[in-house]
Amino acid sequence: MKNIHSNIEKAKKYLTNNNVVAIPTETVYGLAGNAYSNKAVKKIFSLKKRSLKNPLIVHYYSISDLKQDCIINEAFNKLFRKFCPGPLTFVLNKKKNSRLSKYVNANKKTIAIRFPKNKITQSLLSKLNFPLAAPSANISSKLSSVTATDVKDEFGNKIKLILNGGKTKIGLESTIVDLTDKISILRPGGITIEQLEAVLHCKIKLKKLSKNIKSPGQLGLHYSPGIPVRLNANYPKKNEAFLQFSEKAKNKNNYFTLSKSGNMREAAKNLFSILRLIKKKGYSSIAVGRIPSHGLGLAINDRLKKASNR
Ligand code: AMP
Ligand code: MG
Repeated sequence: MKNIHSNIEKAKKYLTNNNVVAIPTETVYGLAGNAYSNKAVKKIFSLKKRSLKNPLIVHYYSISDLKQDCIINEAFNKLFRKFCPGPLTFVLNKKKNSRLSKYVNANKKTIAIRFPKNKITQSLLSKLNFPLAAPSANISSKLSSVTATDVKDEFGNKIKLILNGGKTKIGLESTIVDLTDKISILRPGGITIEQLEAVLHCKIKLKKLSKNIKSPGQLGLHYSPGIPVRLNANYPKKNEAFLQFSEKAKNKNNYFTLSKSGNMREAAKNLFSILRLIKKKGYSSIAVGRIPSHGLGLAINDRLKKASNR
């Protein structure tokens, strides 16, 4: 514990000097920098090899901090009370006098923000006088990191510090809800559409891809393990790994199971680490069986669909 306190202090020092550190959250690890600093934000983009057109999510400690930069509304208040801190990202209108770096949101009028639920990162945020821009800690288009080791595998010694918070609880990115227009989901994630609908008492649509895309991260290959992924398969081909939702087929060493008992939360938590493991074992491709699409299954299927794009 003592170690983590001194590492939080170290992280504070690095971040205050416009450096980038990796932070644990309940969803996936983040690559964090001072969201008010052009220099720090540009470092994040360059480390991730991310297009400057793809905006980042800004992480806050409290609503009062958020109000310096964003305009909130009634739907925000309702969802905040129910789900925050937690795996829900809001797209809000940015205040004109906000100090946020223009690079953080690709110079748009809107900004994606959230309140992470992880003790280490909350403690760090509470000690800073700026919010943290933090996209997932992975090279663009690759798998997100769910352990400190994954982050190390992605970036080697290119980042000075990884705050180790163990394996992330949820294992999938946050749900992104756009509150600046007709309420819609831009990315399914850790909070389900059903949960959001129950609080807002209305139907919420998952935004389909369009040219006028609000989340460029939705386009093309994403969440890729680095080998081809084939969906809705019944069996693996030769040299293929088979990823199944629950344990239907046993005792085959190229079979990998998201959750033996078919538990959706467990499946979500295991998704990225199992995909990483399959790649490490040297398989040339991955066949994926059918995965139910209710609840968190929608987010799991979304990630696998994007991982299968070519
Ligand atoms: P990641 O940083 O990997 O968690 O991805 C963040 C996602 O949030 C990307 O898909 C971005 O396109 C999306 N995003 C960030 N800011 C905005 C915004 N202002 N409007 C819409 N989507 C956003
Ligand atoms: Mg990402």
